[in-house]
Amino acid sequence: MAPETLNEDWQTALCVAAHPDDLEYGLAAGVARWTSQGKKITYLLVTSGEAGIDSIHPTEAGPLREQEERDGAALVGVNEITFLGMPDGSLQHGLPLRRAIAAEIRRTRPDAVFTLTHRETFPGGGLNQADHRAVGLATLDACADAGNRWLFTELMDEGLDPWPGVRLLAFAGSTEANRTVDVSESFDDGVASLEAHAQYLQALGPGYPTPRNLLHGMLGSADDAELGDYTLRLEAFDR
Ligand SMILES: [Zn+2]
Repeated sequence: MAPETLNEDWQTALCVAAHPDDLEYGLAAGVARWTSQGKKITYLLVTSGEAGIDSIHPTEAGPLREQEERDGAALVGVNEITFLGMPDGSLQHGLPLRRAIAAEIRRTRPDAVFTLTHRETFPGGGLNQADHRAVGLATLDACADAGNRWLFTELMDEGLDPWPGVRLLAFAGSTEANRTVDVSESFDDGVASLEAHAQYLQALGPGYPTPRNLLHGMLGSADDAELGDYTLRLEAFDR
């Protein structure tokens, strides 16, 4: 059975990721589509990706990658980004991570939440990284935690009242995708958003595919005539 089209009957979303550049591997093309529809989207970056560039010390790489994330986000219509500053490479699924993400959900009160898959492998068979798995799973839980006034009660003292309003939760990069989004029109913006991570991509070396080729491979759907030229596939749960 062909996956259904994603429900776009929502107005605000929070995108949660472990590292600067995570959201740019496909999801940003969807973000560009949605912001052009007038939806308001904000990003939450759990780390600053400071351990992600072998040739640059973390104290320099962190601020550099935060700026690349801000630049890339602006190209798809996102101007509000929160960086939690947790340690890159050492994230663990558990209460502190759930609490931090739930706090941001309560603060931004989104209708929809997007993140990367918590599953162990990607559709191409590649292994998913520990931080991504931890953030994916913690985000799944935080959507429920955000609505429960009896969890993380100290958040109420910070003025963060419960938010049970997340109606759509969706994971990018999942082997269990069940929804599609036609991102043909916003594909170029998605490419530009990944290209903004210039120093990070440069450090991966000349053998690494260009952002356009990489996203063409991930989002292209030439062998399915019913889909658009480019399709974002998500594992989504709505209510
Ligand atoms: Zn990452």
